[in-house]
Amino acid sequence: MNAMSKRDILIHPDPRLKKRAAEIDAFTPELRQLADDMLETMYDAPGIGLAAPQIGVLKRLIVLDCVKEGEGDPSPIVMVNPQVMWASDETSVYEEGCLSIPEQYAEVTRPAEVEVRWFGVDGAEQSARFDKLWATCVQHEIDHLDGKLFIDYLKPLKRQMITRKMQKLKRERARA
Ligand SMILES: [Zn+2]
Repeated sequence: MNAMSKRDILIHPDPRLKKRAAEIDAFTPELRQLADDMLETMYDAPGIGLAAPQIGVLKRLIVLDCVKEGEGDPSPIVMVNPQVMWASDETSVYEEGCLSIPEQYAEVTRPAEVEVRWFGVDGAEQSARFDKLWATCVQHEIDHLDGKLFIDYLKPLKRQMITRKMQKLKRERARA
């Protein structure tokens, strides 16, 4: 057994956050390790979801756990090659944030309910329906696999404002 290790999270803007991630076709111990590292990184941040491109790995792998601390037992889900198979016409609005866009939040409208099909790290196919915060979170993470960020849903002016703040943050961090 390998120990889990925390990975560095890329901050927007970064070309790796804008690329389409590749399908995973081998269910290896390395994949399991990567998923464990992503969970460790997500819980440590703390966040409720993380996609592999956010740690610079351009593969279709996401992890999520929308049970807030103190509100129930941890419920981590690891999804390999996740796909939205169905989305409700009904929409919901959540104030979203992103570990790659720290401390910036904005309301995004998405389908209120989705059915997602994915593979576990063991290669077993699974599917489930998600609603409420889980629905928003899983769609946000799958978007990352297609190089899409939540700020891409915002008006250009707001998006540019957030991007400029992130550029400034990155410059400050580089100097520190
Ligand atoms: Zn995100």
